Amino acid sequence: MTKHRARKRFGQHFLTDPGVIDAIIRAVHPTGDDVVVEIGPGQGAITDALARNAGHLHAVELDRDLAARLRRQYGDHPNVTVHEGDALQFDFAALGEKLRIVGNLPYNISTPLLFHLLKSRDHILDMHFMLQKEVVARMAASPGSKAYGRLGIMLGCHLQVESLFDVDPGAFSPPPDVTSAVVRLDPLPPGTFEIADEPGLSTLVATAFMQRRKTLRNALKKLVEPGDLEAVGIDGGARPEQVSIADYIRLSNHLWRKSR
Ligand code: SAH
Repeated sequence: MTKHRARKRFGQHFLTDPGVIDAIIRAVHPTGDDVVVEIGPGQGAITDALARNAGHLHAVELDRDLAARLRRQYGDHPNVTVHEGDALQFDFAALGEKLRIVGNLPYNISTPLLFHLLKSRDHILDMHFMLQKEVVARMAASPGSKAYGRLGIMLGCHLQVESLFDVDPGAFSPPPDVTSAVVRLDPLPPGTFEIADEPGLSTLVATAFMQRRKTLRNALKKLVEPGDLEAVGIDGGARPEQVSIADYIRLSNHLWRKSR
C-alpha cells in the first residue's frame, strides 16, 4: 500500500510505539461481548487488536483516503464496520447499547467531541482516549488544584475520570508538540447527581471561572443574589476553584427553582 502522508488539518499523529499500542489494548481489554467504537482509526495502529478481540468494531474516520484503505483492509471482516464521517456529527447512540469508545483523538477537536459524546452517555459503557496530557489533567482535576475548572466540572457531572498513563511525543509519527496521556471515562451511575438545568449550570460554572481569583460571591455577582450561596451552604468567600462539583450543582438547582 502507498504511504499515507499525515494531514495536519485532520490532526494526524499516528501511533507507532508497539509498547504504547499494547498498553492501550490492555487498558481497554476488549472481549467478544463488546461493541467497540474506534474514533479516528487512521492507519489502524490499534484497530487490528480491537477487531481481533471485540464482538464488533465500528471505525469512524473522517479522512476519505484512510476510510477507503480501512474498507479495503477490513472488507472481509464481518465484525468490522467502517463509517466515513465526522465524529463530531456522528450518531453514536444509533450503534447500540453499552458501547466501548476508544480513540487516539485529534487534539484540536477533543473538547467538542467529549461534549458531543456526553449526549449519548446512556449508550456508553466506557471510553478510553489518548489526549494532550494537559487536557487530561484538567479533566481529572480535584477542587483546590490549579487544573480544576470548567472542563473538569462539566465532565465530572456525568463521568468518572481516571488518568491512566503518559505517552511521550516519540511514540507517534509525526510526533506532536506536547506530551499525551491516556484517560479512562466511566459514566456515573444514574442519579449520582440530579441536574435540573444543564445550560444554567454551564453558564454558572463558566461565569465563576472567568475570574478565578475573585471570591465566588464577587465572581457570580451577576447571577446570584445575596443569600443564594448561604441558602445552599456555600461559603461566598471561597474561590471558584475550591467549590466542589456537587456544590455547583446544588447552587444551579437552587437558582433554577427560584426562577420558576
Ligand atoms: N488512531 C490512529 C490515528 C490517530 S490520528 C493512531 O493511533 O495511529 C487521528 C485520526 O483521527 C486521523 O486518522 C484523522 O484522520 C482522524 N480524524 C480527524 N478528525 C476526525 C473527525 N472529526 N472524525 C473522525 N475522525 C477524525
